[in-house]
Amino acid sequence: MLRVRGLRTELRTPRGDLVPVNRVDVELGQGRSLGVVGESGCGKSMLALSLMGLIPDPPARITAGEILFKGRDLRGLSNKEFRKIRGRDMAMIFQEPMTALNPVLSVGKQVREALGPEPGNRLHVDDQVQTLLGRVGLPEPKRLMRAYPHELSGGMRQRVVIAMALARGPDLVLADEPTTALDATVQSRIIDLLGDLQREQGAALLLISHDLGVVARACERVAVMYAGSMVEKAGARDLFAQPLHPYTRGLMDSLPSLSRGGETSLSVIPGQVPDLAAMPRGCPFHPRCAEAMQRCRTEFPPMLGKGQDREVRCWLYERA
Ligand code: SF4
Repeated sequence: MLRVRGLRTELRTPRGDLVPVNRVDVELGQGRSLGVVGESGCGKSMLALSLMGLIPDPPARITAGEILFKGRDLRGLSNKEFRKIRGRDMAMIFQEPMTALNPVLSVGKQVREALGPEPGNRLHVDDQVQTLLGRVGLPEPKRLMRAYPHELSGGMRQRVVIAMALARGPDLVLADEPTTALDATVQSRIIDLLGDLQREQGAALLLISHDLGVVARACERVAVMYAGSMVEKAGARDLFAQPLHPYTRGLMDSLPSLSRGGETSLSVIPGQVPDLAAMPRGCPFHPRCAEAMQRCRTEFPPMLGKGQDREVRCWLYERA
């Protein structure tokens, strides 16, 4: 379904050319799910925008790699061709539902529009809209069609956005921090809903989040991203059972369910994500890594295979 090889996205800024996405590979089969997790600023949102053809060009530009979607390289597509694919074949769900909804149009009209330009007769279309709203767990779909976004709670708005994303039966759903703006209980319900719908519909799901718990709940596989590159990829269960990369281990230690109670916080990893304008040489994690060796300060580690379907970008595993 989706095969990304060596993707590099650059961003021209007054501080120089930055590389928010570097050497990224992604494989996602039909009906499968992959979570991409990392701290804010690690490049995961720029990755999502690059895959959907939505990076602001200029100042951003894909400078290397390929994005194959159903065998077709998306890098060569014009904006017009990309627009045709978005919505019909690929759908994106953003963090803040109000950015995806038009405040002056009723819910019914917006979901109707999401069904595409030739949706059939009006009564049939209204049935389809109600079915979609019902599928995402919204009560009284008929009444809801007449409501406006500001009349709904944040969780209900995000359900409407999910209904719109699924309206045309996309093959790939890309969700970028879809629950960050919601409270914890609503978050879990939305994540469960996304997982259920993805399985029912057989779509591939790429879920991007800063929260390892969120991606592990919804996705079979997890890719951990740091400073623009993926540093570990594994099945969600394997990753939780045995995180390999020192950064992944730090993320695990920050999960409240695995360590102490309270809010999710990534602050247990000392230091900060490096400034893209001043990236350290060698392994970008070395200034924060308790296991850094001399080599880590000069050589960027490759992705190393560690058994079936498992990879880690760390010199510790070169011969291990
Ligand atoms: Fe730490 Fe070195 Fe591994 Fe980077 S390559 S994570 S610095 S041990």
